[in-house]
This record gives sequence, structure tokens and C-alpha cells, in this order.
Amino acid sequence: MKIVVAGTGYVGLVTGTCFAEAGLNVTCVDIDENKIKKLKNSEIPIYEPGLQPMVERNIKKERLFFTTNLKECLHGSEVVFIAVGTPPDEDGSADLKYVLEVSRHIGKYMSNYLVIVTKSTVPIGTAYKVKTNVQEELDKRGSNLKFDVASNPEFLKEGNAVEDFLKPDRIVIGIDSEDAEKIMRKLYKPFLLNGHPLLFMDIPSAELTKYAANAMLATKISFMNEIANLCDTLGADVNKVRIGIGSDPRIGNKFLYAGVGYGGSCFPKDVKALIRTADYCNSSLEILKAVEKVNEQQKDILINKIKSHFKGEIKNKTFGIWGLSFKPETDDLRDAPSIEIINKLIAEGSKINVYDPVSMEASKKILGQKVHYGNNLYEVLNDADGLILITEWSEFRLPNFVMMEKLMKNKVIFDGRNIYEPSEMQELGFTYYSIGRKTLIPK
Ligand code: NAD
Repeated sequence: MKIVVAGTGYVGLVTGTCFAEAGLNVTCVDIDENKIKKLKNSEIPIYEPGLQPMVERNIKKERLFFTTNLKECLHGSEVVFIAVGTPPDEDGSADLKYVLEVSRHIGKYMSNYLVIVTKSTVPIGTAYKVKTNVQEELDKRGSNLKFDVASNPEFLKEGNAVEDFLKPDRIVIGIDSEDAEKIMRKLYKPFLLNGHPLLFMDIPSAELTKYAANAMLATKISFMNEIANLCDTLGADVNKVRIGIGSDPRIGNKFLYAGVGYGGSCFPKDVKALIRTADYCNSSLEILKAVEKVNEQQKDILINKIKSHFKGEIKNKTFGIWGLSFKPETDDLRDAPSIEIINKLIAEGSKINVYDPVSMEASKKILGQKVHYGNNLYEVLNDADGLILITEWSEFRLPNFVMMEKLMKNKVIFDGRNIYEPSEMQELGFTYYSIGRKTLIPK
């Protein structure tokens, strides 16, 4: 079976590579020539555990191809996935220009029956916009070629994307044709050996499922952050509360961690886009509006703690930052809370040293000369007035506290991810601030 994946970003590249791994003949197409050149040499443009060797292996086995030429690769393919970006528009709604552009090109160049699948996260009605575009292009050509559209939103998590794609919790497919259903069933068969469901539904429901899933996850985060802030006020411990509520199976113990607010390429934009979708049809999503507001406020929580510790005097104070990517195991800095926190501290006159295990190069494009880049986690602590931990990479979990103590001017840690034990920090002689837990001053 031959398929095409349009867009070779975090989703498209993983999708194409995993389908090739399952034995399909896959061509990944992108408009970014530089990216395609690198990919042809097995150089992957993103950090995603396990992806690089899989790309290399499937190129060698001649199952995975890369091109900028959509026309060539559509010929003889049965399915084309649209996995291009859907960034937020000026008003927060999803900008569909890339999706609609690809759909026009598909209509222009297709030469046989195709199932055209939107894998990008797109608002309700997009698959039908794709259908209209393709049909218009076929009409212009005077062609009577047949095609179907389907919606197949992607639920992979950056940092665990390969594993998530190969062993998905569920696969959601919105469809309105039996032919397309048969093809999609065949396509996904290799990924269903773990017994998880392949859920067929109508197209609008599939499109909404993706937004509803991300909105629910963002809600859990904002909810726990508000509880954490209440813990701070009342002297309770959010970690204990988390364990306490998480043991109720109706609540579940996943995704209940307090922190510095959600970020990344999906939650912020998808929450915004869903709010806009509802607004357009006069159906206001009040909970989600609150989720967004709480998340914005949460990014200031750590800064407020820092300012309060230094009695408002953070001008010319030097801080070492651990972790820049929006979460561990990815280099993705899109909407990362770290960037906002760093920019706010710089605006107040602080000096910032940063370290992240994988996103140093990517961060240079965003932060430029405004910060000093450390080669390792200890270098950024040289003469530092404090450590600010923003992303919970594994290598930060058990650092050499004795060495840190020698390097730092002030033994104070602001932990935005609650990865250390307050009592242990107290014993080690650090003043340790975290989220929703008591700050213990060294004895
Ligand atoms: P990305 O920005 O990493 O990649 C998008 C790619 O599409 C880029 O390489 C770009 O050059 C390419 N592109 C743009 N126009 C094109 C065209 N006309 N033809 C071919 N390629 C084109 O984006 P991403 O993070 O992979 O996200 C893609 C979609 O998947 C978005 O809708 C996103 O919301 C959704 N999604 C993302 C994730 C995630 O974790 N990143 C998870 C689930 C769903």
C-alpha cells in the first residue's frame, strides 16, 4: 500500500515513519526544501526519542521517501494525510491556510481515487472545506476522479511520539464513506495489536474529539494549579492532595501535577481555537475561558515567589535556568512558559543563564543575545543568586547539591515542577520554593 504524508513536522514525520515501519510505502512531502534535503540524509530536524534510527532504517529499506514534489508522489497512492501546521490566527481561531493550500494542490495533481485525511488539528467543518477545494480543482481540470475525505486527529505526545503512534490508546476516524472506511481499517490494522479501539464516527465528531481531549487535559492542569495556589495560601501540600484525589478511579491519577502552566504547540492554541469555535456559534465555553485565564496567571507564580524572596529587588540579580522546552524529552519551544518567564525577568533587569539538554540551539533563535548559554547544568549556576527550574528533565532530578552550593552565591531554588522534597532541601541548606507546597527555611 502506498501513501503520502504532507508536512514533515512533529506529527507528519512520526506518522510517515511509523507507517513505513509497519511495511507501507510512504512518501513524506514538505515545502521546506532544506528540511527535505536533511531528511533524505536521515538527519531529522526535531528531537524525538527513537525517531532517528527508525527514519534511517526505513530509508535504507526503501519504504520511506522524502520529496518536495507532491504531484509525483500522489500518483498511485491510496491515501494522503494532511499533517501541516494549524497555528493560531490573529483572533485565536485555527489558521487553516496551510491545510487548504495542500488540499488545492491535491485536487490539482491527483491522478487516481484517494482518501484525503486531515491529521492536523482542525475545527469542525474543515474536512468538508478540504472536500470543496479538491472538487473545485478537479472541476477546473474537467476531471471526474473520485475521492473521499476523512478526519483522523492525532493524539501523540511529543517526547513519546513514536511509542504513542505505534501503540495508540485509540485511533479516531471520522468518515462518511464505506470505501474509505475499508481503506482506513486496513491501514491501521498493524497498530491495533494491543487491543485498543479503532473508533469510527462521523467527521464533525472526530474533528471535535481532538479539541475536546486537549481542552480536558488543559482543564486538569489549570484545576490543579488553582488547587496548588490555594495550598500555598492555606499551608497544605498539593502533592498530598494530588495523591489523595488521584486514587479515586473516577478522577484518575494522571495529569494532576501542579506547575508553571501548560505550554507547547497544542494546548494553548487548541484551547483558544475551541473557545473561538464556540463563540462563533454563540455557545460560550465558560470553563475553558477560565482555564486559559488561570494558565496565564500561573506563568507569574514563580516570578512572584522570586520577587517576594528578594523583596522586589531582582534588578542585576543573576538566575540560572534549568529547562527551556515546554516539557521534557522534546526540543519544542512553541509557547513554552520558560520563554515568557525569562523575558519577564529580563524586563525587570535580571541576568539570565540558561541550560536545557536538547533545546539550546532552538532557544538561540528565540532568546538571541539576551541570555548567557551554559554548556551544562552547573555552569549556569556560577555566582547565581538563585536557580529556577522550569522543565523537569531527568538529569535535574538528582544533581550534585554539594557542587551547586559551592557555585551559587545564594542557596535558593525556585522549582516550577515540584521535583525535590522540601524537607531534603531544608537539610541540604537550600531555601526551596515550589508550587503548592510549604517553603522550608534551612535551620
Ligand atoms: P510543524 O510546524 O512541526 O510541522 C508542519 C510542517 O508542515 C512543516 O514542516 C511545514 O513546512 C509543513 N508544510 C506547511 N505547508 C505545507 C504544504 N503546503 N505542503 C507540505 N508541507 C507543508 O507542526 P506539527 O507540530 O507537526 O503539527 C501539525 C498538526 O498536527 C497541527 O495541526 C497540530 O495542531 C497537530 N498536532 C500536533 C501535535 C504535536 O504534538 N506537535 C500532536 C497532535 C496534533
